Amino acid sequence: MRQLATQSRGGVNGLAHNTAKADLKLPLMMGPAGARAELLGALIEIEEQFAWVDLDVLQVAVDLEERARVLGDDELVMRARICQAKISLRTGEIATVGRQVREIEQWGVQHNVLPVLARVHLLWANVDRHLGDFAAALEHSLLAVELLEDTATARTRVWHRTKLADALGQFDSMEIARTHYRRAEALAAAEQLAWLRMAVLNNWAYMELRRGFAEAAYEVAQRLQTVAEAAGLELEGADLDTIANIYVANGQFVPAERAVERAMAYDERNNVEEADSRAEYLLTLAVALRGQGEQERAQACLEACQELCVERELGDVLVRLQQEQAEAYAARGDFEAAFHMHREFFRTYQDQHLSLQETQARNRHAIFEVSEARRDAERFREQAHRDPLTGLRNRRFVNEHLPLLMIGPELPLSVAVLDLDHFKRVNDDFSHDIGDGVLVKAAEIMENEAGVDSSAFAARMGGEEFLMVLPGADADEAADRLERVRHAIRAYPWHDIAAGLSVTVSVGVAQADRGVTQAEVLSTADSCLYAAKRGGRDQVVVARPQMPHNAPLS
Ligand code: GH3
Ligand code: MG
Ligand code: MG
Repeated sequence: MRQLATQSRGGVNGLAHNTAKADLKLPLMMGPAGARAELLGALIEIEEQFAWVDLDVLQVAVDLEERARVLGDDELVMRARICQAKISLRTGEIATVGRQVREIEQWGVQHNVLPVLARVHLLWANVDRHLGDFAAALEHSLLAVELLEDTATARTRVWHRTKLADALGQFDSMEIARTHYRRAEALAAAEQLAWLRMAVLNNWAYMELRRGFAEAAYEVAQRLQTVAEAAGLELEGADLDTIANIYVANGQFVPAERAVERAMAYDERNNVEEADSRAEYLLTLAVALRGQGEQERAQACLEACQELCVERELGDVLVRLQQEQAEAYAARGDFEAAFHMHREFFRTYQDQHLSLQETQARNRHAIFEVSEARRDAERFREQAHRDPLTGLRNRRFVNEHLPLLMIGPELPLSVAVLDLDHFKRVNDDFSHDIGDGVLVKAAEIMENEAGVDSSAFAARMGGEEFLMVLPGADADEAADRLERVRHAIRAYPWHDIAAGLSVTVSVGVAQADRGVTQAEVLSTADSCLYAAKRGGRDQVVVARPQMPHNAPLS
């Protein structure tokens, strides 16, 4: 990996020398702000090509990186580099991309540049998905949404949310996935981005089907077709194959056959030469034909498919082909052939599974053996998540883990903001060291209340401000636990540390239910803390969740 440009160099002149392409578009006397806006626009254009394999784009991204470097704009350098890494991932350089991703993320954390962090986490999720690590993919997808800047384009927001929904679906959390698909779809619709709405619906339908929700898949696929028609846009081969499979899952074999035929026609018309799409279509078609009782045509499709699988080493399709072949023999009453084919299927399945695992293991190894040992990385991660004075979790840990807890199974969850009272006086009247000692002791009291063997935790957010996160606790339970903390801090024998020392804490507590964001719950807890301070300090103020309004006001 190349070194970063840490200082501005060049400027408008450098830009003029370095980018022949941009010269044509740039007004002659463009200032640095205008140059940045122009560059950002060009970058967003390639960032938003969500599904490309185009190697021309790689060159564009390399050029943009150079232009950003000349402008001395490190954020845009990083974003251009993310675009390049994304393309490298498509060409299979997973170990290299894994390393780049971690380097870019570290840069983003050090400089606290959210647009870089949000985008690199999306790419990281992609790396994890390639490695079959769906839990990690979910974690990164979530950060890709949480960290996205408010000024990001609607397209980017839609796409980040769609990928989060995909990650949730892969992780088998289909119910939450649906709320995110829905929001992504609504946003795309509101922005009148029909093609993007179709992309959301396509991923959604596919995921419903993968998770075995045939009816839900059907409904989403219907909407996909309606949206396409209304916008006068054509469905692509892959969309049509998904739709065909959804028809099959719903026992509608005639429309399934029609959809596959449209998929094949689409690919032929557009000269699509994707490695395995034709084999996929043939297999879908075979199933649709068997469903209609057309055994012979089905068999012909299976044989053509088998040929493609062997010729192009499409192991994944082959497994499903053999399974279908066994079904087809059985449907014709040839149980001996069915049995043999089933055995064959099972063997291929196992081989396929093993070789996939081996590839994953190799890739993982490649990623971690590179520059530092894996254990170093973990120690670094752990350190980066702890406050050095108190040993509590820090703000970074909170920002990475609270969002996950907020979509997890332990809802409601309560969040408390704790702030020591008149702490400035402790420093002024005693000493900074004694102030530090108080922080350490108060932290210990909070950690004790959180407990070691639960997902609850205490964190130091900075200065004398702390956070406690209590998954599974509603506002009432949290109030009791925070009262205990408040009391323990007030009752601690502080005078043993210094004669005349006393310490109290003010606390604001808020409960988060499903659908509440981290920003919302923290802001509610903050308001409560403010009320506690105004109310005379040394107290816990709790925001009770509001009762839902049943009837609209007239
Ligand atoms: P309030 O009751 O309104 O919260 O008053 P306060 O004095 O606690 O609030 P304020 O925010 O004005 O002061 C916080 C003080 O915390 C200021 C700073 O000197 C002190 N502080 C911040 N970080 C540290 C630290 O790491 N060690 C010590 N000893 N003091 C710290
Ligand atoms: Mg204070
Ligand atoms: Mg404070």
